[in-house]
Amino acid sequence: MESFIRENIEVIREKIARAAEKAGRDPKDVLLLAVTKTIDNERIREAVDAGLCELGENKVQEIMDKYDTLCRDVKWHMIGHLQTNKVKYIIDKVTLIHSVDSLKLAEEINKKAAKAEKVMDILVEINVADEESKFGITCDVAEDIIRKLSTMHNIRVRGLMTVAPFVEDGEQNRPVFVRLRQLLVDINAKKIDNVNMDILSMGMTGDYEVAVEEGATIVRVGTGIFGPRVYL
Ligand SMILES: *Cc1c(COP(=O)(O)O)cnc(C)c1O
Repeated sequence: MESFIRENIEVIREKIARAAEKAGRDPKDVLLLAVTKTIDNERIREAVDAGLCELGENKVQEIMDKYDTLCRDVKWHMIGHLQTNKVKYIIDKVTLIHSVDSLKLAEEINKKAAKAEKVMDILVEINVADEESKFGITCDVAEDIIRKLSTMHNIRVRGLMTVAPFVEDGEQNRPVFVRLRQLLVDINAKKIDNVNMDILSMGMTGDYEVAVEEGATIVRVGTGIFGPRVYL
């Protein structure tokens, strides 16, 4: 039976492809990350069967709960605010941490990654619009923090992430995405040792097409795939 999840994924893939082509980009350079927070394993499996094998969660507990039951080829991304005391639970479970928003958190990830004998890929979360309600560092301190992270041996700064403001029309967030991309280009141009960022994690259900047009390499989509979340 064809479920709405599979259909939704097809529609989103097409829209990503169109947005990429419009910007002269290869659609293959955009990862559609399925955001599975509050979604049960059965529905997640439908998305995995439809070809989405990289999943994003914003809570450590949900990664722990879902980790064992889902097939081995799934890769988990931590996309939500991460408390330092919980790093130890996910260090061996996730592929990429999108939400590094302080030096203290980076230091803890570095420490736990060393213990696990791995190098953890991370993104620095930027609060581009400087919203009070959002996590992330501001653009003006990004370079300084990234210089400090570049000296930590067990993390690798792969790029930048932002959660853009909630807007009616995704088009309104275009300047946010332009700004994040420019920040990445500017910091790369400084040629900091060990820093050559190639990931831009930006765009959600309401604005992923605009984000792809402006250079997103990962879009994080939940509602567009699974429908509205039900919080119990
Ligand atoms: C929930 C969430 C998303 C997905 O949001 P949708 O609007 O449902 O696509 C993306 N990024 C982060 C950090 C989230 O917490």
